[in-house]
Amino acid sequence: MSTDILTSHDEAWFAARASRGIQGLRAYDPGHDLVAFRRRFGVDNLVELGSNENPYGPSPAARMAVLDQLHSLHRYPDPLGLDLKRALAAKLGLDVSRILLGNGSHELLMQLAQVFAGEGTDVVFSRYGFAVFALATQCTGARARVVDALPRDHATMPLGHDLDALAAAVTPATRLVYVANPNNPTGTWFGREALEAFVARVPDDVIVVFDEAYAEMAEARDYASAVPLLARHPNLVVTRTFSKAYGLAGLRVGYLLGAPGLVAVMERVRESFNVNGPALAACEAVLDDAAHLQWSLEQNRIERGWLRDALAQRGFRVFPSQTNFVLVEFGANTTLIEAALIAQGVVVRPMGGYGLGDCLRITVGTRDENERLLAALDKVIA
Ligand SMILES: *Cc1c(COP(=O)(O)O)cnc(C)c1O
Repeated sequence: MSTDILTSHDEAWFAARASRGIQGLRAYDPGHDLVAFRRRFGVDNLVELGSNENPYGPSPAARMAVLDQLHSLHRYPDPLGLDLKRALAAKLGLDVSRILLGNGSHELLMQLAQVFAGEGTDVVFSRYGFAVFALATQCTGARARVVDALPRDHATMPLGHDLDALAAAVTPATRLVYVANPNNPTGTWFGREALEAFVARVPDDVIVVFDEAYAEMAEARDYASAVPLLARHPNLVVTRTFSKAYGLAGLRVGYLLGAPGLVAVMERVRESFNVNGPALAACEAVLDDAAHLQWSLEQNRIERGWLRDALAQRGFRVFPSQTNFVLVEFGANTTLIEAALIAQGVVVRPMGGYGLGDCLRITVGTRDENERLLAALDKVIA
């Protein structure tokens, strides 16, 4: 192929031929190029605190389950993922028909918009909400109604979702509302009363998606999952993931809980065999090891408090969090600080893309990783 054909058929040429929603879309920003950083620093010298992964890894049973799958790599996985669904159903006290598996919950969040939104419709979500909400909306050509978050100086939940404003933003054109509880990147959350009042205000022909990627980590008394509300409200959906608390980010499995009818419609666009065999087996294994989960949640709770205090002692504002990361205000020098951390092999997540350019999101690591972060930070601010 001659180069002038390649030059004329560039990204802009193809974008002009893409569907309307895709034309103005920018791909999801996964953060820094970690593969390159691992090569440059060596895996053991790099402190990876940018992607909210579980630093302790999954239950050791997951590795055994994956090994066990290696003899059947030539076979397609169970297209229904039924054993995993049964295990989830038993754990959550829900019927199997209410569960849909995804290649990560990212896939499910995209699929929800693909199925229920489209040109001429609205999707409502909060400013500083998870980045995938905007992406999913725009892909379909739907209009994003981005609602202001609670103010930065809010007494209890700075930058959190303003549920009253979200409910008020729903119009007859609204098909979908995305809410993350707890939210990424702010770490903020809300509880039962607020949740129920919000659900009561949204018309029941609007689908409300509660992204609960960090639900397992939220132990505050004023946190509440939407799962108990599913039985009474068929328009509610909850998405969860094995990537965070369960430590299986590398295998890409998430799940959705909703009305059986909603799951059936979503099934129509699900890719066949979207969750692979080793992943299914590993998820079943981690669900069986409650002790490992509890242990790693406890480590996270201890380290989150420790890291928060250490950062606060250095004069940085740390926003409240019920997750495995903290959002931290570094002020006017944020970009310089981030670059200086990177130069020392410490990866955190810049927040410019979220409109929070004076903040960094830092995943809570092991004590060793947190200490290495602080040592690098101390060098920068000295
Ligand atoms: C990490 C994350 C997800 C999704 O993760 P998957 O790995 O795709 O399951 C979804 N929502 C939020 C808010 C997250 O932080």
